Amino acid sequence: PAKTMDELVSLCKRRGFIFQGSEIYGGMQGAYDYGPLGIELKNNLKAAWWRSMVYERDDVEGLDAAIIQNKHVYKYSGHEDTFTDPMVDCHECKSRMRADHMKDIKVCDNCGSTNVTEPRDFNLMFKTNVGPMVNEESYTYLRPETAQGIFTNFKNVVDSTSRTLPFGIAQIGKSFRNEITPRNFIFRVREFEQMELEFFCKPGEDEKWHEFWVGARKQWWLDQGLSEENIEFEYVTGDDLAHYSKSTVDILYKFPHGFEELEGVANRTDYDLGSHTKAQEEFGLSAKVKKNEHSTAKLAIRDLEENKWEVPFCIEPSAGLDRGLLAVMTEAYTEEELPNGSTRTVLKFKPHLAPIKVAIMPLKKNKPEIVALAKELKNKLQKLGLGRILYENTGNVGKGYRRHDEVGTPICVTVDFDSIEQEGAPVTVRDRDTMEQIVVPAAELPAYVINYFIN
Ligand code: ATP
Repeated sequence: PAKTMDELVSLCKRRGFIFQGSEIYGGMQGAYDYGPLGIELKNNLKAAWWRSMVYERDDVEGLDAAIIQNKHVYKYSGHEDTFTDPMVDCHECKSRMRADHMKDIKVCDNCGSTNVTEPRDFNLMFKTNVGPMVNEESYTYLRPETAQGIFTNFKNVVDSTSRTLPFGIAQIGKSFRNEITPRNFIFRVREFEQMELEFFCKPGEDEKWHEFWVGARKQWWLDQGLSEENIEFEYVTGDDLAHYSKSTVDILYKFPHGFEELEGVANRTDYDLGSHTKAQEEFGLSAKVKKNEHSTAKLAIRDLEENKWEVPFCIEPSAGLDRGLLAVMTEAYTEEELPNGSTRTVLKFKPHLAPIKVAIMPLKKNKPEIVALAKELKNKLQKLGLGRILYENTGNVGKGYRRHDEVGTPICVTVDFDSIEQEGAPVTVRDRDTMEQIVVPAAELPAYVINYFIN
């Protein structure tokens, strides 16, 4: 794994994974842009999550709600009142910082001075105006989590899919938080993507499902290539619990800057549906909620056995896509010493996450038959639907191998004179991890590649 953030940042920029946002204007703190390979990696990680959450289960539906929502969503969700971080100012160096790590001693992160203000609450939501009139009433917020769109669509999903408990709703999308001190590359940023599941169950079955999801989510991260020794659980208690949570287990990963939260798995009880439902008094809610004077829908489900309407409990595994990508890159990063004494950098991604699946390189740039066969193979492999297959005609295969090791391409295929002269058109297939090369007849290449990526 990567030992420092710097080596990752540098590789990400050099090879086109991630760039500083607004770089040509001096940058924008807490905002990053995903480059040609970063977007592929991100899409692959999202697809893996969606596959495991929606396609491989029969009790989860997908959703994509709007980022801009009615301001009442945030009034009743509790975010307007309580989605804050404690902030202090330093009198000496005038910097401003998040203070949640300053429980006993308050010391400036920047200059080390203890001459700092008392912590005060800072709301992390971005406020914005909607429509042409800017007045007291026209504001709302950019969503700070995707979850609220799931709760507000609960009735729509139940009515349109006839779901009964337990079932979940999954969503991937952007969230925005005006973090006081964004830092550690894409670990803490102001605009990021979340992959969230809200899993609804009967009250009383919530603890069982909470435990289930903690285990399932850890397993999923292992399946993305993270190793057991780099994952830990943290049981969040007392004051550290979010305003909606009865209990939370954070899944931590050993990032280059230390063990930190990758995903939170929270038992949100009936807090959210109870907050957004009309006729709250009818349901005997267990959570303490603000009285709702605006909702037009009952967010409850009929318990067929007892023939009554009830507000389900909710278990939420909430993962950060950007943090996930950082974890996957940290883990995949490998510096290897080769037998000849030189070193190589390899990103040992799991094949399903690799931004480029196969690179096809003609050995000779200007030999039309070689070029034609290489292009034909590219088109054939691209049709398999595995992801990006790159045809790359630089004429320097050695350099190509090094570059593809660095971006984690699992397979490189070279087309050479043998391929056009010998029967069966043999091509050379080189494996990223073992660096072994084998010869495969061109006609068998698609089967070889499918077998490699599907198994
Ligand atoms: P932290 O304590 O690190 O601020 P959090 O506990 O506030 O995180 P949650 O509200 O539980 O985070 O959000 C769920 C997930 O969303 C987190 O586990 C993380 O992966 C991701 N996430 C939250 N805030 C950010 C951010 N500023 N930048 C990138 N990812 C984030």
